[in-house]
Amino acid sequence: MDFEYGAEHEAFRKEFRDWLARNLPPELCLDDPADDRVASDRETFERRRAWQATMHAAGWVAINWPTEYGGRAAGIIERVIYDEEYAASRAPVLPGHMGLNLIGPTIIQWGTDEQKRYHLPAIMRGEHVWCQGFSEPGAGSDLAALQTRAVDQGDHFVVNGQKVWTSGAHFAHWIILLARTNPDAPKHQGISCFLVPMNTPGISVRPLVLLTGHHHFNEVFFSDVVVPKANLLGPLNQGWKVSTTTLMHERHSSGARNPIGQVARLVALAKGLQRDGRSAWEDPVIRQRLAQLAIDCEVLKLTRFRNLTRMIRGEAPGPEGSILKLTGSELGTRVADAAGELLGMHALLNEPSAAVPDAPRWFNRLLAARQYTISAGTSEIQRNIIGERVLGLPKG
Ligand SMILES: Cc1cc2nc3c(=O)[nH]c(=O)nc-3n(C[C@H](O)[C@H](O)[C@H](O)COP(=O)(O)OP(=O)(O)OC[C@H]3O[C@@H](n4cnc5c(N)ncnc54)[C@H](O)[C@@H]3O)c2cc1C
Repeated sequence: MDFEYGAEHEAFRKEFRDWLARNLPPELCLDDPADDRVASDRETFERRRAWQATMHAAGWVAINWPTEYGGRAAGIIERVIYDEEYAASRAPVLPGHMGLNLIGPTIIQWGTDEQKRYHLPAIMRGEHVWCQGFSEPGAGSDLAALQTRAVDQGDHFVVNGQKVWTSGAHFAHWIILLARTNPDAPKHQGISCFLVPMNTPGISVRPLVLLTGHHHFNEVFFSDVVVPKANLLGPLNQGWKVSTTTLMHERHSSGARNPIGQVARLVALAKGLQRDGRSAWEDPVIRQRLAQLAIDCEVLKLTRFRNLTRMIRGEAPGPEGSILKLTGSELGTRVADAAGELLGMHALLNEPSAAVPDAPRWFNRLLAARQYTISAGTSEIQRNIIGERVLGLPKG
């Protein structure tokens, strides 16, 4: 395998890196781009929306979208370079990331011309921020068990039901909604997908506060919500297929996480931290543990390359998608656990201290890491997929 990038790819990297260096406002930079401590803050959200608009004006959002929809039709390698440079710049996750990475591509695949014309430019500009209304109290891993109903009333549907864990619904302008339209059909066949403005009468949002004390996701209630027929995405009762497009894009983007940057930070921390009268780094058990985590991050990176190679060759995404999601998120929790042990009581402080000035970031990371083993398909579900489709084990 050739790990070198070609000259045209290096030129692309330089172009984006230089643009970020010139345009990214320093006050938006984060130590940890996945840091959700600021996700509940409206002012930061609006500043990030303005940043997305700046990026869009310069042609730096949705670069993988086709040119006819405003993208650059960038290939897989450019997208990888783009993600690498964006993360290295310490820029924050864009507020419209769900629209750009999941919902926009779903509209491109399933939307009418009118839906594409209306929604895609607004998603790119950050004018419309989206949330994903799939999970319900009784439907997560078994999403097709969802109970929210959309009843056909001639020229519109009336929606009643509840969604849960809806990330960003408290700021979102639109929701992509799965609802049951034919209760008599087998459960995967009676579902439809809708595009619904969040300010429609009858929608209410209640915050769910995370273990970290921050507000990232919500419950969303629908009470006699009128949804015009024009807002149906894809054919009636084919919502399962439509949602598969969204979930495929979600799993692909969540598999891209690699905690190697955090391991490097832990090494620096261990070198500066005094434990039992000596630097923590002098403890061979700690060094071995961090070395093992660094090795596992490297293995994860190579597995991702294997997946990308298949995609560049035009082959169907392989089982690596589930392997990446599983190992990436579990590795994230192991890195957080190692941080907890290294920091000892400092990990319990949500305040900077002289010994650990960035203690709040580690505190947050320690409590937040577990969520990635649940979102976009839990670890158990990924193990089932790997067991059944890769190892050929019988269905459990
Ligand atoms: C950070 C975060 C953000 C999220 N954002 C959104 C969002 O924006 N929109 C949205 O719609 N949803 C969102 N979700 C919800 C997410 O998709 C669900 O939490 C996930 O699919 C699991 O469903 P559940 O919580 O209902 O758990 P359940 O499906 O009830 O599972 C409970 C436990 O049982 C295990 N289990 C279930 N079925 C099996 C099986 N067949 N075999 C073995 N074990 C099994 C699970 O692994 C889990 O440990 C988010 C979740 C998180 C954590």
